[in-house]
Amino acid sequence: MASTPPSPATGYRGRLAPSPTGYLHVGHARTFRTAFQRARDAGGTLVMRMEDLDPDRCRAEYANAAIEDLKWLGVRWQEGPDKGGPFAPYLQSKRHSIYLAVWRKLLRRGVLFPCRCSRKDLETAVAAPHERARVGTGGGKFDSLDDEPLYPGTCRRFMGGTPQLPGPTSDLESPGRTNWRFRVPDGEVIEFVDQNLGPQRFVAGMDFGDFVVWRRDGVPSYQLACVADDAAMRITEVVRGADLLKSTARQILLNRFLGFSNPLWYHCRLVVDHNGRRLAKRHDSLSLRALRQRGLTPMNILSADLPVEI
Ligand SMILES: [Zn+2]
Repeated sequence: MASTPPSPATGYRGRLAPSPTGYLHVGHARTFRTAFQRARDAGGTLVMRMEDLDPDRCRAEYANAAIEDLKWLGVRWQEGPDKGGPFAPYLQSKRHSIYLAVWRKLLRRGVLFPCRCSRKDLETAVAAPHERARVGTGGGKFDSLDDEPLYPGTCRRFMGGTPQLPGPTSDLESPGRTNWRFRVPDGEVIEFVDQNLGPQRFVAGMDFGDFVVWRRDGVPSYQLACVADDAAMRITEVVRGADLLKSTARQILLNRFLGFSNPLWYHCRLVVDHNGRRLAKRHDSLSLRALRQRGLTPMNILSADLPVEI
């Protein structure tokens, strides 16, 4: 297997950011392999960052398996939880103070509000036909980052402070036991040129609504942790699955209010099953573990003719 030179010749910094909520499947393999190749071709550095923030869903067993599976696949990185590096720690679960600082910065910018809506409140709002909420292509899946229904705006009145919380919001030291949402600029067009998929365009308030940046169980959201880490780790290009295109639009907004520069983005087309469904944990038979046990080689997996989402 080819390896990346130890001293990067360029400023390119890419990252691999697996979430250890299950075993990696063939779709992950292709995306991570692409990330590796782009860093290697650029003579840059590849960072492994374990996105293990959600204590209910992440397991050490899966984190270890991800590292092992990626190594088997021939993917190599220069910084990571198993290697250390100048931007350690590389486990998101150990970076809480960094996320808290970012939450405070956003709060001071006046773009956050506390949201007391329960999941049931949001489902009811989406179900009501007169509401502005428009269900995305996911049909109301709350667990999908890109397809969550539009937030109906119920708690926007808490912008900039709320009498239920002690003192002015800008003095808050901690998010407490509530969800915090970022208020999107309704109607603003967010455009970027994806390095793989070309020009992308999303409208805030239509394609996505006010999104959660901090959860009531004390866990920062994917959006917040991702921009905080990509900035702190000086990532110059993000290679990830096309299921996160809309998250990129959200992250462009966060970067703007945080004063972070945008990295480049390269979104990989998603591998789908023969029914056109995206691969997920239900596809255990397509996990790298299972394929390897059946005797397939990394080359078999990477070169197989698999259907992709258009
Ligand atoms: Zn709310």
